[in-house]
Amino acid sequence: MDKGLRPGRGPVSFALPQCRMLTDGYDGRQAAMNEMSGAVEAAALAPRPAALRVMAGQAGVVMEGRVLLALSAASEVDAPALIRCAADAGLEAKALALRWADALRLARSGAPAMVLLKGNGAALIAGASADGSALLMRDPLEPGREPIAVDRARLEGLWLGAGVVLAPRHAAAPQLPFGVRWLMEAVRHDAALFRNMAYAALVLSVLTILPPLMLMQLTDRVLLYQSWSTLTILALMAAGIIVFECFLGWAQRHLTAVASRRLDGRINLLVMQRLLGLPLDYFERTPTGETQSRLFQTYRVRDFLTGPLFRALLDTLTLVAILPVMFLISVPLSFFVLGLGLVLLLVVLAHTRPLQRATAEVVVADRAKAVTLIETLQGIRTVKALAIEGQQGSQWNRNLADSMRTHSRLLGVSNQLQTLCTPFERGMYFGTMILGTWMLLSGNGSLSIGALFAFIILSQRVASPLVSVSQVLHQFSDVKMALAEASAVLNHPPERPAGQSGVRPSLRGAIAFEDVTFSYPGALNPALSDVSFAVPAGSVIGLVGRSGSGKSTITRLLQGLNGGYSGLVKLDGIEMREMDLAHLRRNLGVVLQDNFLFRGTIRDNVAAGRPDITFERVIAACRLAGAEEFIERLPRGYETMIEEGSPNLSGGQKQRLAIARAVVTDPPILILDEATSALDPESEAVVNANLRRLARGRTVVVVSHRLSSLVDADTILVLDRGELTAQGTHAELVAASPIYRQLWTQQNRVAQELSR
Ligand code: ADP
Ligand code: MG
Repeated sequence: MDKGLRPGRGPVSFALPQCRMLTDGYDGRQAAMNEMSGAVEAAALAPRPAALRVMAGQAGVVMEGRVLLALSAASEVDAPALIRCAADAGLEAKALALRWADALRLARSGAPAMVLLKGNGAALIAGASADGSALLMRDPLEPGREPIAVDRARLEGLWLGAGVVLAPRHAAAPQLPFGVRWLMEAVRHDAALFRNMAYAALVLSVLTILPPLMLMQLTDRVLLYQSWSTLTILALMAAGIIVFECFLGWAQRHLTAVASRRLDGRINLLVMQRLLGLPLDYFERTPTGETQSRLFQTYRVRDFLTGPLFRALLDTLTLVAILPVMFLISVPLSFFVLGLGLVLLLVVLAHTRPLQRATAEVVVADRAKAVTLIETLQGIRTVKALAIEGQQGSQWNRNLADSMRTHSRLLGVSNQLQTLCTPFERGMYFGTMILGTWMLLSGNGSLSIGALFAFIILSQRVASPLVSVSQVLHQFSDVKMALAEASAVLNHPPERPAGQSGVRPSLRGAIAFEDVTFSYPGALNPALSDVSFAVPAGSVIGLVGRSGSGKSTITRLLQGLNGGYSGLVKLDGIEMREMDLAHLRRNLGVVLQDNFLFRGTIRDNVAAGRPDITFERVIAACRLAGAEEFIERLPRGYETMIEEGSPNLSGGQKQRLAIARAVVTDPPILILDEATSALDPESEAVVNANLRRLARGRTVVVVSHRLSSLVDADTILVLDRGELTAQGTHAELVAASPIYRQLWTQQNRVAQELSR
């Protein structure tokens, strides 16, 4: 036991056979992966990361040795760090404050769990003794050994009263596509809220019946018979109604605000979650403005649900409450009002189609406007440089004209509708007035003056629900369109279907392409055809070829950015399609020709928000990338702010920061795609001089059209129109590849002529 529950780090050997034991019963692939990660884990792990690794193993997930080692290097591994680490491996972990009874319950639940011991230690909970007097615990550093019984006093002397438990892994619930069902589900979450809104509205609508009835009493009783007592009662009722209306009105508005805010929150969460899951491909094919304007439609849906739709439902309730009272007062007048109401409904329904068409045109025109606006903003440098402000301006003018035209058409249609509705709406009012008076005068029916007044007021309340109900009917199609717009983005197939994550091997960097053929969607010629090559881990691979020959495409396939290729792309023998994408990309450092730096300090940019990256590692990465010398000359050093578009840095400085950012996680594979092409010769020389150092201990893929920087590469692939025409070292290629020789002589003509 003393040896078992070791607080703090001790001399540890983590032998491979024990790893095996943990993974007994897994399929061969995972066993193979264990073997690979074994190399990393032969080194010492701190107790808490080790415990997390065992727990993940219990949940059927093999954690990356590299990540666990990085975690072990931290001076203190707290629960949040463990939870983040678990989340990175696709597991959900929770921190718990534990008392003895909780720990017992946890032990009986069988969930993978650890308790945190003093001095950075940890113990795994393996079970509880039958009488509940002791917990069965394992040492995370020797998980293969028999568990040890620990009693309460003993544990409470060692532990911190906290634990970390893994939530059971659900086969990720299939996510509903965004649409009517999704919305209904979202509303259902707040069912109580909507129910209370409805109660408040129901009472309010009943209250609206009272004032006309009170008016009736006032005319027929109080005025006619001078009944003071009735007046007192009416006055008291009025006071009561005012109080009720104040309170219920407030409650209804408050609940509506809460409901729409919650719905908003849900929609917004969904929007970002789905956007981040979309493949790069989607963004390359869709103008940003289009995505933005489509997503904007979600707000119309939200507004409709909590606004017109809800109001229409309430109005219908009011109608249901009013109609019986009206019929009680006068049957012929009620039929008159209902008849006009029916015509009104038909008029509105007849406008459904034209309104729908007009709305569709507005949406399309506004989208085009948004696309132009965003494009202009994003490309403002180019617009200025090419002095095409005029062209962009006139494009905007055309969009604007379209938008205004469609908007005025829509307004025209709805104006016509309202105009046509007016006679019927007013007809209800004046009609009942005149018809009712005529009935009073001619003695037809048993109508009193007060009853007529009451009826006239009530009849006014009939028109507006009818109009709002019919408007909702036509808005339905409107909202259906808004839904379709939004779901074109939100239901676009994600990079990987939810819940399908793939394997997370610990990568070393051997790359192999086997008969890879790939065409971009819609392209006529394949960007890669039948490309096969294999390079061992730790190589420096050069990719050369004319522009458009497929160099970047190879790097994109390596990042899993494009699917739909035929053949096999393997990293360490594992096919890309089987790999977890997030895991894969964490293992890649990528530097492009033009890199996006986020707004923030240099230090933040290099660490890119990753919590496990210490300042020391940031500095080391900057040194490796040759960025240290210029950062130290900046007045605020690593704390210098970088603004959007990084105008305060030169191209070479930006590039070196991007390289630092790519290597700060120490990835086993580094991809430099024309990373030095846009640099001035001095910056390029700095980066190239560092290439050897950058390449130490990892595989580096360098795409460059400057062959001089590839002379030392272990192997160079020569591409031409998507085909791999030759592979070899510089010397071999100069001798054997006409394309390479041509590129080389082109670039070295001056040098060669001098040497002749
Ligand atoms: P290189 O990096 O060697 O200049 P690429 O790999 O970028 O060439 O491109 C290879 C071919 O694929 C080119 O013909 C190019 O037009 C096409 N291509 C590249 N990227 C895309 C893309 N995102 N969508 C469609 N076609 C593309
Ligand atoms: Mg390229």
